[in-house]
Amino acid sequence: MLKGTSASAGIGIGKAVIVEETELIISKTPVEDAEAEKSRFQSAVKLAMEQTEALAKDLATRVGEKEAEILNGHILLLSDPMLVGEIESTISGENVVSEYAVEAVCNTYADMFASMGDELMQQRATDMRDIKTRIQKILLGVSSVDIAALPMGSVIVAKDLTPSMTAGINPANVTGIVTELGGKTSHSAILARALEIPAVVALEGFLGKVTEGADLVLDGSDGTVFINPDESVKAEYAAKREAFLKEKKELEQYIGKPTITKDGVTVELVANIGKPEDVEKVLQYDGEGVGLFRTEFLFMDRTAMPTEDEQFEAYKRVASALNGKPVIIRTLDIGGDKEIPYMGLSKDENPFLGYRAIRFCLDRKEDVYKPQLRALLRASAFGNIRIMVPMVTCLEEIREAKALVEEMKKELDEKGIAYKKDIEIGIMVETAAASLMADVFAKEVDFFSIGTNDLTQYTMSVDRGNDKVSYLYSPLNPAVLRSIRHVIECGRKEGIMVGMCGEAASDPTMIPLLLAFGLNEFSMSASAILNARKLITGYSTKELQEVANQAMSFATAKEVEDFMKEFISRS
Ligand code: PEP
Ligand code: MG
Repeated sequence: MLKGTSASAGIGIGKAVIVEETELIISKTPVEDAEAEKSRFQSAVKLAMEQTEALAKDLATRVGEKEAEILNGHILLLSDPMLVGEIESTISGENVVSEYAVEAVCNTYADMFASMGDELMQQRATDMRDIKTRIQKILLGVSSVDIAALPMGSVIVAKDLTPSMTAGINPANVTGIVTELGGKTSHSAILARALEIPAVVALEGFLGKVTEGADLVLDGSDGTVFINPDESVKAEYAAKREAFLKEKKELEQYIGKPTITKDGVTVELVANIGKPEDVEKVLQYDGEGVGLFRTEFLFMDRTAMPTEDEQFEAYKRVASALNGKPVIIRTLDIGGDKEIPYMGLSKDENPFLGYRAIRFCLDRKEDVYKPQLRALLRASAFGNIRIMVPMVTCLEEIREAKALVEEMKKELDEKGIAYKKDIEIGIMVETAAASLMADVFAKEVDFFSIGTNDLTQYTMSVDRGNDKVSYLYSPLNPAVLRSIRHVIECGRKEGIMVGMCGEAASDPTMIPLLLAFGLNEFSMSASAILNARKLITGYSTKELQEVANQAMSFATAKEVEDFMKEFISRS
């Protein structure tokens, strides 16, 4: 049995099809007429754009707009004047063939992104290599692997799948995907989830172990892969597949149902998104709004900052699609582990404790924060937008952010531009300081959203991405639970809404406790919504009080966890 990273849930059983791209031979061949070479390059880029547009169009009709957006990102890269300009000046500066100039420039960018260690940047590196290969293939007249024509029951095995390869997959024939590279949030993983194909990524050395046509069984939910398993394993996983599909189907009955407990308490069940296209899944899974729009994603897939107008369009698109349902948009949360190369941030010694989120934004008011706030206000005329400020630790930060919103409102008033006059402003409660001061913050803001991903990290002093200390990272630790309960109590006392947008909001062991504490809003990835609705509608908050009292009487995370697991197995 081998173990990789789970990227798309479900069981895949089938035959290995190894997908290897033909190796392109690129040499530094000199050219005599650099101008003619530049126009050869320009024609290749034009064709690459046309091909990508066609692929995006096909994907939009076959799968969805959101998935097509990934390829639209490639079109943006292909039309990026900086990138194209750099390639052209390499051609004329060094008098070399286009394929070499493309290789040199795209690799510089791809390597730079890849060296950043961050998963999103890895993804950008993959995108850059993808467009590089597409242009070079056109220049060299090489055709691509026909991934759309794989036989039924194929499990695709590859070093890495580029988004354009994944986009061409026919889900009726492909039962699984295993790759050596990639991560949970890589574009190909996102596409695999959208196509609902089970996928395991980051399985190091897999290509050296598997042969073409081998029997493969994979569990995309936990990252397990078997090569040529015996009949008993095959039978076990065939049964698991049946159970998985049955459960998925059963959850559909919760579409259109209210999220109300057995004793009549209504809570909001909303979604976390990173891009405007994600609203499609929110609607598909019947989300009651958006509880967290991580706007930093808008800043990531590109080589320069999105303009105020681009941001306005993105926020407006989400607000309009949600048609009056609440849309909480978080202002830029970069720094820490989320780097954006063009922002020119230097590496902090302690990134999670450093120059990030609201600290960064208040330092970059003119070029970063004010345009974002203006874009948010303008978009608020088109729906129910609320503004959320991340990583707040002290009162001055939220006061300054609120003063800036007022300043931007005045600017818009002067220009006669519409916005939601009474727009609500809230904070993420994700630092120990914000939690301890929740009673004070509750008087200054319109809502709280508890960010347990960071709150756990800062409460337990444990890096959320460090495997070696992950045993300490649990929202069920009594210290974190006390913090959560305190924040909810403070918010409720002031009559403001208290939500949660960290991963804990969809954790079945946490949901009963959060209901007992009085949480108003649960925000999670769209695909987790129906299961959460099933759980919430099965509980009575009154009956849960006793469960919460008992859970809070324990002194260790293990005791709480065992108790909650035992409780949910009984309910
Ligand atoms: C959190 O910290 O819980 C959160 C939702 O934000 P992020 O995961 O983007 O830091
Ligand atoms: Mg956070």
